[in-house]
Amino acid sequence: MGNGAKAQQRKDRAGTKPADKGASSQLKTNAAAQTIQCDTCKATFQGTSKQPMLQLHVDSKHPKSDFKTCFPKFVAA
Ligand SMILES: [Zn+2]
Repeated sequence: MGNGAKAQQRKDRAGTKPADKGASSQLKTNAAAQTIQCDTCKATFQGTSKQPMLQLHVDSKHPKSDFKTCFPKFVAA
């Protein structure tokens, strides 16, 4: 067991990234736990909803309103 074994170990760690998978799935759980609410009609949407989907809601339910009015707290990713 010398430097050779250490280098091999480092290579293995770089090749497989179990930490990355865990972090991203944790992120998903957190996002799903939060909800986005329409300020106009109080309808709720999954926190993972993207702006186009919310825009669709605005267009169909509140055609005379706009995105900022319905989702003032929404921040585009
Ligand atoms: Zn609405």
